[in-house]
Formats: sequence, C-alpha cells, structure tokens
Amino acid sequence: MSVTLPSLDSLHALKPLQQPSYPDAEQVAEVVARLRALPPLVFAGECDDLRAKLASAAAGEAFLLQGGDCAETFAGVTAANIQGKLRTLLSMAVVLTYAAQVPIVKVGRMAGQYTKPRSSDTETRDGVTLPAYRGDSVNGFAFTPESRMHDPRRLLDTYNASAATLNLTRAFVTGGFAHLRSVHSWNANFVKTSAAGVRYQNLADEIDRALAFMVACGIDDEEFRTVDFYSSHEALSLEYEHALTRIDSRTQLPYDVSGHFLWIGERTRQLDGAHVELLRHVRNPLGVKLGPTTTADTALQLADRLDPEQEPGRITFITRMGAGKIRDVLPDVVEKVTASGRLVTWVCDPMHGNTFESANGYKTRAFADVIDELNGFFDVHEELGTWPGGVHVELTGDDVTECLGGGDDLVEADLANRYETLCDPRLNRNQSLELAFLVAERLTT
Ligand code: PEP
Ligand code: MN
Repeated sequence: MSVTLPSLDSLHALKPLQQPSYPDAEQVAEVVARLRALPPLVFAGECDDLRAKLASAAAGEAFLLQGGDCAETFAGVTAANIQGKLRTLLSMAVVLTYAAQVPIVKVGRMAGQYTKPRSSDTETRDGVTLPAYRGDSVNGFAFTPESRMHDPRRLLDTYNASAATLNLTRAFVTGGFAHLRSVHSWNANFVKTSAAGVRYQNLADEIDRALAFMVACGIDDEEFRTVDFYSSHEALSLEYEHALTRIDSRTQLPYDVSGHFLWIGERTRQLDGAHVELLRHVRNPLGVKLGPTTTADTALQLADRLDPEQEPGRITFITRMGAGKIRDVLPDVVEKVTASGRLVTWVCDPMHGNTFESANGYKTRAFADVIDELNGFFDVHEELGTWPGGVHVELTGDDVTECLGGGDDLVEADLANRYETLCDPRLNRNQSLELAFLVAERLTT
C-alpha cells in the first residue's frame, strides 16, 4: 500500500464517474475545508478490528451480515428508524449465529449511505426534465429545480446525519438494547405472529433451549448484553471521502474515517478510475461490487490493485449477478481468484441483479428471485469447496411494501400501500427475517 494520499485534484483529473456537478467551486472548497476539520466518525483501530473479523469470514470462520437502506435519508435519522433497522439486523444475526455456529460479523449499510450512482443523469416527469436524485448528500428528492440542484452544503448534513446515527447505534449496541435474550424474543414473536415465521418454529425453539441452557449454566455475562456493530457505505462522493481520510496517529497511515467498511460500486470500479485510486490508499477493509459481466481477470486485477500485499480481510467481493446468471458467471470468478492463492471474503448481494419495474410502475424485486440468487451463491461455493462468506441486503425495520412475495405474499397491487424508498426497493422486516431463516437452513446443511 502506498502511503501518500492522492490529492482531491489529482482524483478529479482521473475524470471520476457518478459525481455531482456543483455550480460553485468556492463553496465546495469551503465545505471540504470544514469537513477536514471535523472529528473522525470512526476510529482507525475499529477499522482494523473489522478487517480482522472479515479475515475470519474469508477463512470460513465467520459470516458477514451487511444490510440497511439502499439510500439513507436525512429525514430518516430518527430513533424509531435506526432502532427498527438495528432490531432487524440483530434478529437476523441471532438466527445466523445459531445456524452457522460461527461469529456473525454485523455491518449496517448505515451512518453514511447517502450518495447514489444513477443510470441516468436526468429524470423526466410529465415532460419536465430535471437532474436525477443522487442521494441526500447531493440533492433533494422533491421534483423541483431548487431541490434537484447539487448542493455541497449537503455534505456537512451527511456528516451530521451519520454522526447522529452512529451515536445512537453505539448506544444501542452497548447499552442493553442488543441483549441476546430480548433479540431472541423478537424472533420468537416473528415466528408466532407471521405467516412465514411458523415454518421456523423448530429452529426458534432450538435457539430458545440453547439460551435457556446457557442461562442455567450461569453464562449470562457481558457477551450476552453487547454486540459489535460496524458502519458501511458506498464510497462514492470523492469530496466527502477524501475530506474524511485522515492519517492515523498510531500507524501514520491513512484511514477513511467516514465509516468502518467502504465499498466501490459496480459503476465506479474502473481499475484506473478515481475511486479505486483513492481507496487503494486507505487502510479500511474494502468491498467491491461485482456484477454479471465480471470476468475472473477483472476481479484479480482489482484485488491486485487494491490489495497488493494480500492482507487478510482487506478485500470483500460482493457479487450481484442476478438469479438467472449467478450459476453461470460466479464459478469461474471464484475458481480463478482462489487458484491465484488469494483469500477474499465472498459475499452475496442478491438484490441488485434482480430489480425490475412492476406493471403498475414500481421499481421492485421478487423475494423468490432474491432467494434464488442466494441459493445459487451457496450452490456455487458448495461445489467449489469455498466458503460463502456473507450476505449483503437492502432492508428496513418497517413493514414497507417494496419487494414482492415473501411469507405475506405481497403482490403488485400491494406495492402502492407503503412504498417509501427513495431509491431501490428494500426487504421489509418479515421478509428480512425470513431470508435469515432461509440462509440459516443453507448454513446448517
Ligand atoms: C447499491 O448497493 O445500492 C448499488 C448501487 O449497488 P451496485 O453498485 O451493485 O449497483
Ligand atoms: Mn441499491
């Protein structure tokens, strides 16, 4: 890893994709200067801890659960919303821990996921064309010229929203909210009260008995009360990520302290692009999204560029190939990367390759496709003898109606009831738990 960080100007000289076009360069410079002076959101040492945990997931000794909104919003920074997502993720983690019998590494798509790549720069409604919504860090969702202007001051709001989210998250995961017994009681409730849940009665009962056994043995200590939880987001805004990259006083090395884990999206992972150039210089554990056109060569070149020293836990490949393609495309990639001697964490994002528009005009995903891609992921790794290291999902703690199917059997007409995402459709709470139980079945067989 090279220690000298490239300047923001040199990154812009690489013509980065998916960047805002700010009208006022001076204002951008002011915001960046302000961001540079603000305290880190995470500590470098925490990033190192997470990297070590991901090294375990690469080695088959842990499993990553990563999830949260497609796009967080400033309005969504409320106690109820943060609590709902945490509750869902922690519930899923309990089921997975029991099934996999290995530690679950818990990472939220939270506290920084405010910047979105878009397939088109503009959006047209009723003959009016405006800049596309690029996430709350760039512009507003409201379809007016004022709101859709790219405003750098939103980067300061992003920092504050992330700080508030992280603060409450840290309080929740250490302050008693995450107690294993209460988390399990949420799951027991899901099993009792939802159509999908009843199928998992046996598994939930087994977890109940395991917990009762441990309590009877007197094992009810600190480990029960707190969990490790990490933040992550797509490192897309160069201004923001560069301004939050700092030299760690312990190691004298650069860390992007905007979040623990950062990933490079499918659209911005060009080998000679600005995002790869920035992130190859920071010490955080990194994710790279790999879509259906990915070749083994591309994956290997990305790994070489981002992780020349082959540091354990550094690279997580998040594959998002689509249910119809994963069984054809993934084997060669996994096989060749493995044959190269590299140990990476293989994670399945079963969401982004399965998005379509419903007949009534909603961007949606079918729960059955999501599960099909997950099964494909497990099948491929089973066949190759490699470890399926984790899942990456878009979810929320609320009872939204954004994805079709699942135990409650949502149909297209239901989408209108509670479609709240500003970007991609998320699994609701029941769908998320159902997914966890299904993954649990794959991890136990
Ligand atoms: C996302 O994770 O929201 C996203 C845009 O993913 P991808 O880069 O895989 O398309
Ligand atoms: Mn998304």
